[in-house]
Amino acid sequence: METPKVENVVIIGSGPAGYTAAIYAGRANLKPVVFTGVARGGPAGGQLMTTTEVENFPGFPEGITGPELMERMRAQAVRWGAELVPEDVVAVDLQQRPFVLRSAEREVRTHAVIIATGATAKRLHLPSEEKFWNLGISACAICDGASPLFRGVDVAVVGGGDTACEEAVYLTKFARHVHLLVRSERMRASKTMQERVLRHPKITVHWQTEAVDVYGHDRLQGVRVRRKPTQQEEDLPVGGLFYAIGHTPNTDLFQGQLALDAAGYIITQPGTVATSVPGVFACGDVQDHEYRQAVTAAGTGCMAALAAERWLVAQELVQEFASAPAAPTAASVTPAVPPPPAAFDPHQPIHTGSYALRKLYHETDRPLLVMYKAPGCGPCRSLKPILEKLAQELRDRMYLVVIDIEEDPEIAQAAGITGTPTVQLFHRKQRLQEWRGVKPKSTYREAIEQCWAAASG
Ligand code: NDP
Repeated sequence: METPKVENVVIIGSGPAGYTAAIYAGRANLKPVVFTGVARGGPAGGQLMTTTEVENFPGFPEGITGPELMERMRAQAVRWGAELVPEDVVAVDLQQRPFVLRSAEREVRTHAVIIATGATAKRLHLPSEEKFWNLGISACAICDGASPLFRGVDVAVVGGGDTACEEAVYLTKFARHVHLLVRSERMRASKTMQERVLRHPKITVHWQTEAVDVYGHDRLQGVRVRRKPTQQEEDLPVGGLFYAIGHTPNTDLFQGQLALDAAGYIITQPGTVATSVPGVFACGDVQDHEYRQAVTAAGTGCMAALAAERWLVAQELVQEFASAPAAPTAASVTPAVPPPPAAFDPHQPIHTGSYALRKLYHETDRPLLVMYKAPGCGPCRSLKPILEKLAQELRDRMYLVVIDIEEDPEIAQAAGITGTPTVQLFHRKQRLQEWRGVKPKSTYREAIEQCWAAASG
């Protein structure tokens, strides 16, 4: 009987920590497997996928967008032989050796594990929050700010850190006015970010002010706020409320298996990335509540790969896979350029823009997936290749149309889009389903297969 394969090292997570670990482990010929994640713990690519400019990552004097930086790290990991698996790990067993990791679609055994699962944006849990989630409340201004819901209306951002300031400034592109609600009398953001906010004519900072609830009918119409010094409550009419109040570490999977601190962060031995289980290493925000920078995450990702390699060698477990780097190509770091509308070809399964959407909506009998994206939206970048792969696999049996909501705001308005990415499934002019955020490929495939089954039955 064939012995089941055991990996050298599996990396969980695809932010700066995970991809840096993958680059180093790849260059050490360990052929790392990287579970990049889909939805659990935030978007693949990590928190930088939902930021705009990153101005402090060394090597980019003009700055670089978060999604672009992550795209480059991903391409570099692939170049050095990392195998990327776009699935969420749903269970781990760190008690037995080799360690066992499971996703919905596979089980993997590995000698070493590098945890780079990062952290997730916190919610306020206001009494009426659920009712207006995605109907005015969002945890990602960069993903959702360009949607028609927020254009030309007043919006509010909660928080006083760099994220809150960055999002407040970004929202001024679309909103009429931005209210920044800061719960104390000072902000935690860097001086530069604070100044940008305080000087901005379209931003008002409300000091010592907290949100106590939200109100509205079919969509958000305002926030009930409490002014702390007087404890007085009043209504602040806004059409959008964005949370930017910090993060919680993504460590649910490891409860009871690894030592965690009171806030849930993985405890690493001081100055190292070693966890309480030999052979398991943690890097990035999942073990760092102090620095939380892309560059420190990348630094600890590097440490984790080097530590994992040393551990595998010391245990005499290492299997080397000699590999030459694949040549980097423009295509490996740059998304494909969409064809102009004039080039509409019904034999192709993937299209962009309103012309293709209108044409296919009226004329095709095939299931039609429409993906709504925004230019700065990181999760959109993760989702697009997943849907493109599906459309290629099912070519001749479905269509995919990608709509940029900044380029086609009236289409987004008509479709009722309140955030990106949003995917809608149409069949014979009927809208059958809608998904917000990134789902596993199997979710979209199953829905399309149901269309075929309904059509043939
Ligand atoms: P932070 O933890 O730095 O800030 C969280 C903010 O939310 C604080 O002002 C905090 O207030 C406030 N807050 C927390 N809970 C609540 C609550 N229940 N109600 C109201 N307010 C609340 O998180 P960030 O996401 O802003 O930043 C995380 C890290 O990422 C930081 O290190 C930051 O520097 C970095 N970053 C860097 C960027 C860049 O360089 N471009 C961009 C964005 C982030 P209080 O201070 O009172 O606790």
